[in-house]
Amino acid sequence: MNNPVYTICDKCYQEIHYGEAYVSIARNVEQAKHMIAKNKDEVFIIDSLLLFTLCTTCGNAFNYNALTRIIETIPMKNSTYEKN
Ligand SMILES: [Zn+2]
Repeated sequence: MNNPVYTICDKCYQEIHYGEAYVSIARNVEQAKHMIAKNKDEVFIIDSLLLFTLCTTCGNAFNYNALTRIIETIPMKNSTYEKN
C-alpha cells in the first residue's frame, strides 16, 4: 500500500507520496550565521516560496541550464547581460 499523497507533480500531475523523493524549486530568503561553538556556518531559511514541484522523472529530465539562462537575463548590479 502506498503512503498517502503529499503533493502532485506540476508537470505530469503524477502523485508524489510521503517518503518519495521529489525535486522542488523555491525562492528562499536566507540568513547566514557563523556558529562559533561549532566553528561552522549555518544558513537559516527565513522565508520560502515554493515555485514548483516535480516528480523524480520530470525533475531528472528538467533542463536546469534553460532555467539558469532565463535567470541570467535578469539585470543585476554587476550583470554582464546587455539588451540586444
Ligand atoms: Zn512528473
